[in-house]
Amino acid sequence: MDPLYDRNIRCLVCQQSYTTKKIRSRFLRPVKHDTDFCSYYPSEDVNPMFYYVSVCPHCGFSATEEFSSYFPPTTLEAIQTTIYQVWNGSNYSGKRTFQEAVNTYKLGIYCATLKREKHIVLAGLYMRLAWLYRTYEIPEQEERFMRLALEQYIASYSKDDFQGTRMSEVRLLYLIGELHRRLKQPKQAILYFSKVIAKKKETIEKRIVQMAHERWQEIRESQKSPPPSEGKSGV
Ligand SMILES: [Zn+2]
Repeated sequence: MDPLYDRNIRCLVCQQSYTTKKIRSRFLRPVKHDTDFCSYYPSEDVNPMFYYVSVCPHCGFSATEEFSSYFPPTTLEAIQTTIYQVWNGSNYSGKRTFQEAVNTYKLGIYCATLKREKHIVLAGLYMRLAWLYRTYEIPEQEERFMRLALEQYIASYSKDDFQGTRMSEVRLLYLIGELHRRLKQPKQAILYFSKVIAKKKETIEKRIVQMAHERWQEIRESQKSPPPSEGKSGV
């Protein structure tokens, strides 16, 4: 059976219908996870990161399932004029290559910005694009998009716009800490891991509290002074 199937989407901008590929749930079997929740799959054929963004072949408007159907005043017109006029008619409805998947994220980020989507939605796009680059071992781009994700996660936390989404406060605080840690900002990382740990009693997400402990411990270990040289050890 083909792991991919066609899902029907109705474009929020031009109202036309199109299909986009999704992966059947029985094939969604990650083989490993990183400490920031990046998941790895046996092959790109079954990697849902490739199909996170839907791109309307009619007008170019690109969105994820997290986008709201609400357009703040003037944003719909802004999208119609800017996207539609530059839209080259590419079709992303089929199976995607890595480069095509990257293009869909850049389109999605552009549309989310024009639409003034929630910070948590933009963060999710930046984070997945960073993961995609990590999966393909392109560390400069991975770092660039981790920084952008971090900015948006912090904005989401301070404006509280993650409420009512799939993101919990504990998970968000952990992710902010973990992105600081990966971007070599250990003091900031510890600050956010301690906020996670402070929620130990009230949260049901005990696993994330445990992960915050582990990351904090790793930072401590890495900051320990290197072992004394042979000359000084007296052995
Ligand atoms: Zn459209």
